[in-house]
Amino acid sequence: TMAKRRPLILGNWKMHGTGSDLAEVERIDAAVQALGVEAGLMLPATLIERAARRARAVAIGGQDCHAAAQGAHTGGVSAAMLRESGATMVLAGHSETRAGDASSVAAKAHAAQAAGLAVVICVGECERSADARALVAAQLRASLPPGLDRSRAAIAYEPVWCIGGSAVPDAAHLARIFEMLRGEAGEARLLYGGAVDGGNAAELLALPGIDGLLVGRASRSADDFVPVLEAA
Ligand code: PGA
Repeated sequence: TMAKRRPLILGNWKMHGTGSDLAEVERIDAAVQALGVEAGLMLPATLIERAARRARAVAIGGQDCHAAAQGAHTGGVSAAMLRESGATMVLAGHSETRAGDASSVAAKAHAAQAAGLAVVICVGECERSADARALVAAQLRASLPPGLDRSRAAIAYEPVWCIGGSAVPDAAHLARIFEMLRGEAGEARLLYGGAVDGGNAAELLALPGIDGLLVGRASRSADDFVPVLEAA
């Protein structure tokens, strides 16, 4: 077993947040600074520039990027556009953005790294399955771009059947998955996501192999997110 590394706590606001929510970014930023934890907020693209101008301690990131540098991709946002707006990280392959083909996740991750962003590659089985370990291993292998700088990358294991729900997988399931992820992902940091909140964060972070958390609903206000940050 590897020594515990400095935890990384990420929030994913999904399609939530307008200018009035920048006050929450500021509150969360103040807590991140006070606690000295490593944390990031993955925000809607429309908030990134304003949030990055306010944030001192919390990293600001995007939730997705296009694999291409530019082109005829209406609605697309490139990794360089995110970087220029002040993002330093981006998710690739969140289940809500995965369009079937894992090679596009690898292409996005490659584009993100080329633009100087730290990339968080998301994987996870769609439903409760005895074959989860093999399914996730295959998904991860297809999602890792060649030449990924693992020292800057993170892998987030998010079982889709836990996202948006109220329960996390049992410790035996997580142990099987994270042992596999460590073997596949080398030194990349390994995060757990799906139904994380202030009530289960410390327990999850204490499990072997888990270096951090990716938090959805409980990241959108300081009241909900600070207890997760305090668990790190
Ligand atoms: P949740 O979402 O924490 O609201 O379950 C997690 C995610 O989708 O990243």
